[in-house]
Amino acid sequence: MAAYAEYKIEGKIAIVTGGGTGIGEACAILLAQAGAKVAVFGRRMEPLEKVAAECGKYAEAMALSVDVSDEQAVRDGVDKVASAWGGVDILINNAGIDLKVEMGEQRFETYFGTESAGEYMRYMAINSLGHYLMNNACIPYMQKKHFGRIVNISSILALTGIYSTPPYVASKGASLTQTKSYAKRYGRDGITVNAILPGMIDTPMKEDSPPEEYDIVASITPLGRVGQPMDVARLALFLAQDDLFITGEGIAVTGGS
Ligand code: NDP
Repeated sequence: MAAYAEYKIEGKIAIVTGGGTGIGEACAILLAQAGAKVAVFGRRMEPLEKVAAECGKYAEAMALSVDVSDEQAVRDGVDKVASAWGGVDILINNAGIDLKVEMGEQRFETYFGTESAGEYMRYMAINSLGHYLMNNACIPYMQKKHFGRIVNISSILALTGIYSTPPYVASKGASLTQTKSYAKRYGRDGITVNAILPGMIDTPMKEDSPPEEYDIVASITPLGRVGQPMDVARLALFLAQDDLFITGEGIAVTGGS
């Protein structure tokens, strides 16, 4: 029997965007361990294939190169999954980008507002529009079965802001508010839509962060450490379960900071 049997995820069909690394990788593997068929989307095939091979130890899995900001590619990718496996039940909108900034309030201030209009729109295209396109491609399949679970990986910065990167924060805020609209519109179709708001999580996105950033975050975190991808994945799995009376929420995974 698959793990987490009480969540009744076995046999469900899941798509995880940005599933080749970090939080997406953890979500994909956990869903597969719970018995879901998992398709991982991302741009680079190499990490996706590795994750699909790991998922394949537990359930059927596939890797597809899909840029979530490309409407046609999204439609084609989702249709491919649905026709191979018979629909889409679970969508984890996790793909995202962040720019690397150096630690320190003064550095942040120097950097603040320096992104070009094109860079601003790139954040929106992947971190927010990407969710919109994926939702719109998956929801018709979910409506057919009167069942869907959508989990959007936003960020705690959507609520708090930060000294740097207004475009990143804006794109994450859009992801959160969009979550609430989708939840309202599609609740009657049996589709729940929730967001996870992670704090700092130890993933490839943070690999250039200086060690002192980890120390500072750990020191202001009641639970005393930086998050790990599995900390987020466990909540994603919970929100993907069959019997769920939660929708339109944004739930923090920050260790209490
Ligand atoms: P990673 O950089 O490991 O993951 C991001 C993933 O998104 C990569 O696998 C990347 O693969 C994929 N991706 C990026 N752009 C696209 C695109 N256009 N189309 C499809 N896939 C894409 O970092 P994390 O695991 O940390 O990030 C996952 C999510 O968590 C992001 O949305 C991030 O903003 C969010 N988050 C992370 C936090 C952290 O501290 N780590 C904190 C709060 C939120 P590829 O480049 O091959 O496409």
